[in-house]
Amino acid sequence: MPKANVDTPTPPSAPELSHVQRSAVSELLRVSPVADDLARRFEEAGFRLALVGGSVRDALLGRLGNDLDFTTDARPEAVLRIVRPWADAVWDVGIAFGTVGCRKAAAGDGGRQDFQIEITTYRSEAYDRASRKPEVRYGDTIEEDLVRRDFTVNAMAVALPRKEFVDPHHGLEDLAERVLRTPGTPEQSFSDDPLRMMRAARFAAQLGFEVAPEVVAAMTAMADRIGIVSAERVRDELNKLILGAHPRRGLQLLVDTGLAAHVLPELPALILERDEHHRHKDVYEHTLTVLEQAIALEEDGPDLVLRLAALLHDIGKPRTRRFEKDGRVSFHHHEVVGAKMTTARMRKLKYPNEQIKEVARLVELHLRFHGYGTGEWTDSAVRRYVRDAGPLLDRLHKLTRSDCTTRNKRKALALSRAYDGLEERIASLKQQEELDAIRPDLDGNEIMEILGIPPGPEVGTAYRHLLELRLEKGPLGRKAAVAELKDWWAARS
Ligand code: ATP
Ligand code: MG
Repeated sequence: MPKANVDTPTPPSAPELSHVQRSAVSELLRVSPVADDLARRFEEAGFRLALVGGSVRDALLGRLGNDLDFTTDARPEAVLRIVRPWADAVWDVGIAFGTVGCRKAAAGDGGRQDFQIEITTYRSEAYDRASRKPEVRYGDTIEEDLVRRDFTVNAMAVALPRKEFVDPHHGLEDLAERVLRTPGTPEQSFSDDPLRMMRAARFAAQLGFEVAPEVVAAMTAMADRIGIVSAERVRDELNKLILGAHPRRGLQLLVDTGLAAHVLPELPALILERDEHHRHKDVYEHTLTVLEQAIALEEDGPDLVLRLAALLHDIGKPRTRRFEKDGRVSFHHHEVVGAKMTTARMRKLKYPNEQIKEVARLVELHLRFHGYGTGEWTDSAVRRYVRDAGPLLDRLHKLTRSDCTTRNKRKALALSRAYDGLEERIASLKQQEELDAIRPDLDGNEIMEILGIPPGPEVGTAYRHLLELRLEKGPLGRKAAVAELKDWWAARS
């Protein structure tokens, strides 16, 4: 088993390795106060501790966050005894699977940082195929623990406190090559836990890695096994895939291997056969492009609801496709059908109700703008658009703008101009409505009382005077408004 000290790396065989190792060393230095501290406590109690899995992979890629995964030979009860007096908070929801979680604030580069830590006892698990759940068995060696991990790039460890690099499956080479391979045969690995097939697509999308051909072959051959995995586990991987930096890559892999036919059949169904007489765009390719265009419009980081809406916006098309007599193709009401299909699929995948409602609503509204033409909507139509979108308006803007994949530059520009026009009208209506809602500081009854006058045109004149003042100076407050009103009245008479 190759063991190397990270502090004194052996000369790298490929130029990438030196870069990889440099970033790993700096990432490990960043987390080392907290990791070293914890490792010392495990050592004093007679146990081993190693940074492992995603944390080592991400350290090597220079993208380690504040989530740290450790593995240890200590059993969960012993782990609890060590971390309770040390951590700021401890949770044991995962204890049945050998995992203890905790949070610890520690010095980091930008001042104090909160580290989220998971410590899992060495496992050597077997899987119960009927119950769909991994059966937990603890192991005695780190090698046993690493061999049951999903991919070689996730099967590396750094044993603490000496920072020994443990890489029995040559994950570092695969990482430098940016390729996902399984430690053992992919067939064995995927029959142990079919979710790993989804994880391959997820890591391809997150990391931009290739999936090794033998892994793709096993995914293709075994795609139907995903059926035994719980909807929640599938959904979580799907979300990470969609939220990744390269979702197209992950989605294409799901479609090409046949996994999508099981977990998201609406997606491969978008590959509509095109015939020469009825020309229409490839809805599948269009969808992937819309997703990428929507991502490019995100402002505050990845937005799951927007991305799901982009991915699902046209899923009603295959079912609503009609070949018209004039040779055209139509998809009448595909947005309504699509919204229903979205709800059904997301329910099946056990998404939270709020997310289901939001995504389905966006799918339903994605075509509404098409009636706008070059600005033909009345003010009330614009208001209805805003009201129907409600808190989703901003996302609807992004979805609608992304939903244009024409290669005709003039057409694309015209559409985007028209949408600019709609957004301007929404802004000016809003401003007008805010202005319309402004009232002077005193109402008609108060004016009559203060000036001691009966109802009549003078009340209206006084009211408009106070409204002018209010627009000019902002709210005056009652006292100042009364004084202004009296001055104005005195000057008039
Ligand atoms: P991230 O946390 O960024 O999503 P990760 O690689 O840490 O990525 P986790 O799901 O947190 O992924 O899992 C932590 C580690 O546990 C993985 O790196 C891998 O070594 C192992 N692992 C997780 N799930 C599985 C699985 N289904 N089969 C085998 N190993 C797994
Ligand atoms: Mg993790």
